[in-house]
Amino acid sequence: MSLVIVGSLAFDTIETPRERRERIVGGSGTYCALAASFFTKPKVVGVVGRDFPRRTIDLLKSRKIDLSGLQIKPGKTFHWEGRYGSDPNQRTTIKTDLNVFQDFKPELPPSYRDADILFLANIDPDLAGPVFGQLRKRPALVALDTIRFWIDTKPEALFRTLAGVDIFFANDEEVKLLGEDINLIKAGRRLLRLGPRIIIVKKGEHGALVFTKDFVFGTLAHPCEDVVDPTGAGDCFAGGFLGSLDRAGRRGPAEIRKATVFGSVIASFAIEDFGIDRFKTLTRREIDKRYRDFKRLVAF
Ligand code: AMP
Repeated sequence: MSLVIVGSLAFDTIETPRERRERIVGGSGTYCALAASFFTKPKVVGVVGRDFPRRTIDLLKSRKIDLSGLQIKPGKTFHWEGRYGSDPNQRTTIKTDLNVFQDFKPELPPSYRDADILFLANIDPDLAGPVFGQLRKRPALVALDTIRFWIDTKPEALFRTLAGVDIFFANDEEVKLLGEDINLIKAGRRLLRLGPRIIIVKKGEHGALVFTKDFVFGTLAHPCEDVVDPTGAGDCFAGGFLGSLDRAGRRGPAEIRKATVFGSVIASFAIEDFGIDRFKTLTRREIDKRYRDFKRLVAF
């Protein structure tokens, strides 16, 4: 089993109604790999500047995340700034400084080229082709997540990439925008016709909805009393989902349902603290306990 994640490793500046944090570590690849590391040994492809903290690299390595595909370049690490209002599901991007991410050319070490699952996590959609070109075989699953920035700046490239993926993760707003319908179900079905076999709609504190041609599955989000920082919830959801599928080996409807709940559970931990801080103490035991609580919550 192997899961390769191509994504951003970043500094994020986050403003919530309660607090502002400058240049804390984030990034789609960082969050996703940390989340997946509770199920499998993810392999990361990405780029950082020389300013990226050594202690974060050490944390990722301590979680057995393979960083041989991480490039460290002269220059500054990607920086994103976002602000949340009183509704944690709504955020505004204030600034995106691509920095070393601007000229990022993903390089897959030989040990990554037989990936079973490939995840393109919020990267420039133009990078998908060069990544596919380095693989020895088509992975059993190719998954894609995107962010408003790429929908606005590179829609054609995004649609091209979408045509070649199996799973597409998106939030409500992105599904409606790309599926060109204000009705989520219709927009989701339209996206299914564009390529992916599975569309996973992340609905923040309202959970997630999985659409396939054969079945629809919905789950709640773990009820969280204190959302400290919602950043990375989507990436952690994807990391938990794909990590769980990678570990299961099988990818039938039962495994997909279970993976959706693990995705939800991991995301619910990530938002309990700023940035990646919650991952410094999180244990598999806590994850399994919340998974069991979740099962009780939805059983009837
Ligand atoms: P999420 O909250 O799961 O949607 O992901 C937020 C993460 O995505 C943050 O940690 C950002 O660093 C990262 N991010 C934001 N914009 C971009 C972008 N244009 N490309 C890659 N990563 C991004």
